[in-house]
Amino acid sequence: MAGKKGNTLTKTVWQYTEVLPEDTIDFLRGLAEGYGKIKNYTYKRYSGIKSFGRLTPVYDIMGEIRRSGIRTQLGLPSACFDPAVVDAVSDIKSMWAVVRSKLGNLITMNENLTDEDRIYLRTILKLDKTYAAILNHEDYEMPKKAKDLEIDAERLNNLLRRLTRKYLRKPEAGQSDYFSITPAGYAYKDGVLLITTGIHGKRIPIPLKDNRTSDRQLKIFVREKDAAIAIPVESRIKMHHDYTNTVYVHIGYKDMFTLSNGNVYGASLGDITAEETERLTEKNKKRARIRSVQKRSAESGDRKKADNIGVNNLGTQKYDHQKDKERAKTQIFINAAINRMLAAEKPERVVIARPVKVHKTKLPSKSANRKMTRNFNSYIRERLTYKCRMNSIELVEIHSKGTGNICSCCGAEGKRTASGFVCGSCGLQSTTALNGAKNIENKYKNMNSK
Ligand SMILES: [Zn+2]
Repeated sequence: MAGKKGNTLTKTVWQYTEVLPEDTIDFLRGLAEGYGKIKNYTYKRYSGIKSFGRLTPVYDIMGEIRRSGIRTQLGLPSACFDPAVVDAVSDIKSMWAVVRSKLGNLITMNENLTDEDRIYLRTILKLDKTYAAILNHEDYEMPKKAKDLEIDAERLNNLLRRLTRKYLRKPEAGQSDYFSITPAGYAYKDGVLLITTGIHGKRIPIPLKDNRTSDRQLKIFVREKDAAIAIPVESRIKMHHDYTNTVYVHIGYKDMFTLSNGNVYGASLGDITAEETERLTEKNKKRARIRSVQKRSAESGDRKKADNIGVNNLGTQKYDHQKDKERAKTQIFINAAINRMLAAEKPERVVIARPVKVHKTKLPSKSANRKMTRNFNSYIRERLTYKCRMNSIELVEIHSKGTGNICSCCGAEGKRTASGFVCGSCGLQSTTALNGAKNIENKYKNMNSK
């Protein structure tokens, strides 16, 4: 979401259009479709081994595709064509990054290779031009680092080719429901976004719900009746010279943040998500009942009734809309709590425990609510990370081992009960969250005193 650039951060702000007339939606869908076709065309022609050495600069590829005539054939404005090619080439590059990292692992694990073999292979993988030449059986200059190695280069090159062919995937574009557009392709007038048709002087008006404008590349998602616009926004990173504390934070399911100093921020996050969980559970039960009526109708041959139920009672639009609204409310709560914590504690450093990796096969989820809070847990971490960066605060993640079941007072193994944490050894009684936060503090201080 957030990319770093100098001392600013880029984040995405969403803007929504009003409900749009059908022909406007069709126009936008047309752009998304053309955008997807250009991406597919680029994938097909440039994701193979032969193109690997020439993915940069992307302008050359853009020129070639333009000359093929497909852009005019699709009637796609240049303002959408250029980003489509850039988008596709960047996907292809990520595929190559995946292959190279996969090959790196295989090289490490391969017992038939000597250390010198490995040095050679790793060196080649780092050099685009040389790697490309080897893949295409072209002449190449032996890299300096590999000159004095005792290796059978031809054998190793064959291995590289074989593994690359085996693991290189082609990116695939399904149907595209979005397109990107450069500033050359749009303008604003009185709260309306005007999008170029590619025909000189002709622009399609898209009324917006707010007055925000941009001079950056926009990404536009076409929906059933309206569109959502992703606008990149630069924010300046702030420095706070009065932020000097180190705080130790337990991220919990009931209260959002519990600090080792006892302060709590985002109290009762669990209650908010519990309410929403209850609402969804009820709703899903009702939908399940309707679905079984629908199934019975279909089985007894009443197709018409079954179809009617599907259209009238099982639509997902309203259901999703309500869900989005509730989620947005919870996100506002979370962001406000993080802001309050940073403003009040003035930390130069925030220490948290890394999330415990849960094995998919044995989810310890006792209730659906746990699951829901867990979904928000990653959102909380993402926002905390972002806000720390925005405020030049160091975020330290330590291993969570020993921050849960151990007594923060005496170090003995204690018990997590319904009413909190209890230590049988020294008698400490505390909330699980506070004990966890204190353990994070102890562990961090121990790590740094060694
Ligand atoms: Zn104890």
